[in-house]
Amino acid sequence: MSSQMTEEQRLATQGLRKLLDKTIEPEFIAHGDGFIPKEKMLGWMKQLAEFGLVNAPHPEEYGGMGLDWVTHLRLFEEVAYTSIDIGLPLVINTVVADLLIGGASNEIKSRYVPGLMAGELIGSVGISEPNVGSDVAAVGTRAVRDGDDWIINGEKTWISNGEYSDFFVCTCKTGEGELTHILIDREDHGYEVRGIPKMALNGQSTAQIFLSDVRVPVSNTIGGIGTGLKNTLVTFERARCHMGAWGYSLARRAMDEAIKYSQERIQHGKQIAGHQLIADKLATMATEIDAARLLALRAADMIDQGLRCDKECAMAKWYGTEMAVRATRDALQIHGGCGVTKDFIVERLVREAIIGPIPDGTTEIQKLLIARSLTGVQAFR
Ligand SMILES: Cc1cc2nc3c(=O)[nH]c(=O)nc-3n(C[C@H](O)[C@H](O)[C@H](O)COP(=O)(O)OP(=O)(O)OC[C@H]3O[C@@H](n4cnc5c(N)ncnc54)[C@H](O)[C@@H]3O)c2cc1C
Repeated sequence: MSSQMTEEQRLATQGLRKLLDKTIEPEFIAHGDGFIPKEKMLGWMKQLAEFGLVNAPHPEEYGGMGLDWVTHLRLFEEVAYTSIDIGLPLVINTVVADLLIGGASNEIKSRYVPGLMAGELIGSVGISEPNVGSDVAAVGTRAVRDGDDWIINGEKTWISNGEYSDFFVCTCKTGEGELTHILIDREDHGYEVRGIPKMALNGQSTAQIFLSDVRVPVSNTIGGIGTGLKNTLVTFERARCHMGAWGYSLARRAMDEAIKYSQERIQHGKQIAGHQLIADKLATMATEIDAARLLALRAADMIDQGLRCDKECAMAKWYGTEMAVRATRDALQIHGGCGVTKDFIVERLVREAIIGPIPDGTTEIQKLLIARSLTGVQAFR
């Protein structure tokens, strides 16, 4: 993998940048802080699909572009630079598509995957429950066989895309120590959704999902009975590279805003960019952003090569998201009092950045995974 973009990647990201700067960002800013209606989100998703979001890394036979995860991550960076509210639904659709392509029946694939690729359908993936967070193996939502159907009962929480979702890949307990992924269609099978208000990222949906005697055909099982935990770990690899990219894309935006402000703001007779303590902050940001990007691209490159990369994905996720907390905070500090007002983007970036170290495994969990791969000593039971 080269640290430089290929000509194809450069052209693709430049074209995407133009769409984001000229059309999508002005619409996003004009929309304000509130929930983005599904129709609006789908409108952006359809435009982004033409640039390879979420279709770039998926096979052409399912409507994908047959490119690689490295290219996909380069494209994702541009979207996340504009807005994590738009980026996060794409991350979820990407990993859901990957799950279905890897393990669904041909019927399920042909029903859902082309819609995901075209930005016309929205999926969710649900592991977390009120009593299940970092310990994913403890899932309590039960799926019990009744002839050719599953009957599902339980409650999921923190589900990204929940309110938007046309369908939901639910991690269910199907036996003692046995987890299974089951696709539940919102219209055909039904589930209740309730949004969760948060300190940021209220444009996209994070939701609770309630499942009460939901009857789903066994043919909606994804990846085989009992493969839920293994397939969740594969899903985490993809998701964690994106979370690393969430971090450095947000940080890159914060740095650009801080550079602009520091060049314009005059104090003590000169641009604050010329003050050495401000220069130190900017130099640190630029270096750490590059380091975070290289970690995430390495992980994506390993996925492209079919190599196991749980440690590398954990490093990318931990470093990228924690770095973004530091970088956005420094960018706000460079803005002085203006930074805490709604007139400057850094205020939003700080609130978004602080969420990053939590989803898809907290920083603490990533460190446990990295250390386990170094020592061979199990961090979990
Ligand atoms: C915006 C957002 C979107 C999300 N989207 C989804 C989604 O789409 N689907 C989904 O299933 N989930 C989703 N989640 C849930 C997310 O994956 C969990 O919040 C996360 O895994 C942590 O679980 P928890 O919040 O229950 O914290 P807990 O697991 O209760 O952890 C609380 C604290 O204890 C620490 N901790 C826990 N265990 C250990 C340990 N062994 N050693 C050291 N420290 C430990 C944690 O690091 C954390 O600091 C989302 C969360 C957020 C905030």
